[in-house]
Amino acid sequence: MNPPMLKDFPRYPLTFGPTHIEKLERLSAHLGGQVELYAKREDCNSGLAYGGNKLRKLEYIIPDALASNADTLVSIGGVQSNHTRMVAAVAAKIGMKCRLVQESWVPHEDAVYDRIGNIMLSRVMGADVRLVDDGFDIGIRKSWQEAIDDVKAKGGKPYAIPAGASVHKFGGLGYVGFAEEVREQEKELGFSFDYIVVCTVTGSTHAGMVVGFAKDGRQRKVIGIDASGTPAQTKAQVLEIARNTAQLVKLGKEIADDDVVLLEDYAYPAYGVPSEETKEAIRLTARLEGMITDPVYEGKSMQGTIDLVKKGLFPKGSKVLYAHLGGAPALNGYGYAFRNG
Ligand SMILES: *Cc1c(COP(=O)(O)O)cnc(C)c1O
Repeated sequence: MNPPMLKDFPRYPLTFGPTHIEKLERLSAHLGGQVELYAKREDCNSGLAYGGNKLRKLEYIIPDALASNADTLVSIGGVQSNHTRMVAAVAAKIGMKCRLVQESWVPHEDAVYDRIGNIMLSRVMGADVRLVDDGFDIGIRKSWQEAIDDVKAKGGKPYAIPAGASVHKFGGLGYVGFAEEVREQEKELGFSFDYIVVCTVTGSTHAGMVVGFAKDGRQRKVIGIDASGTPAQTKAQVLEIARNTAQLVKLGKEIADDDVVLLEDYAYPAYGVPSEETKEAIRLTARLEGMITDPVYEGKSMQGTIDLVKKGLFPKGSKVLYAHLGGAPALNGYGYAFRNG
């Protein structure tokens, strides 16, 4: 059943159901034990090609794709995009074709970067994968429009899903549902979370959470960690999606500029390139919790989480929920960075 805020929207189930919330005991203790860290395991949300946050968004987009009578899902991302991998999986599951544009968003060290991890999985699942040379941009892209036109020219019926499934009219709904789900889980846990940490790039994950948590006034407790390296554009996109989504779900409150909290300090040196501190956060989380985070997204939001605990941003006794959004397959593209562990 859909949560109350989403009762008017059709949902095509692609996930197992509510995701597990797990206490990160050893990481919390390692960081001094003053703050309790928990992870909501969106990375384990489905049996579709390793799952992740895009499936929660696609659950509210796919009904529209089916209603449009399309036969091909068309989407776009970087070479190691998790999003395009998830679109390929959904196309296979619902019996559609899939056309993917993979742009050169990330400078990389590994010779097999475009052969393994996410892009390999998309190819295995039968997607028509095309590599193009354009650089990083979270906006609407020419190469995506060209792919849509090409599918049409060849007699297909495309259904267009933008990068990260974000600037789609229903892109923000899935993570409104996340907030509703957290509220239900809090009743069972007997406490509520003081902060929610989320990695932000194309913006609809963060935007959906802002709208969902605005219902109980917690939207400024959603701490976005920018991993785009273009935070002004990302913040503007989060705000726009949040405002559109608030209208769609009839939130009945305005979303203010300050409702989007986006920290810019952890995206360096660039989108898709991990800093030494990001790599340290990935190793630490793996060694203390057996939890795998990636160099593009979750490693950066974990680095941010660890740094904010160390800096004392979260008051003593705070319960912090780290949204683990997936992305582990991309780690395969970083064999050189982790050659010694
Ligand atoms: C896409 C993605 C994000 C960012 O989510 P947006 O909605 O694009 O901001 C974070 N982590 C992982 C693993 C992702 O695949």
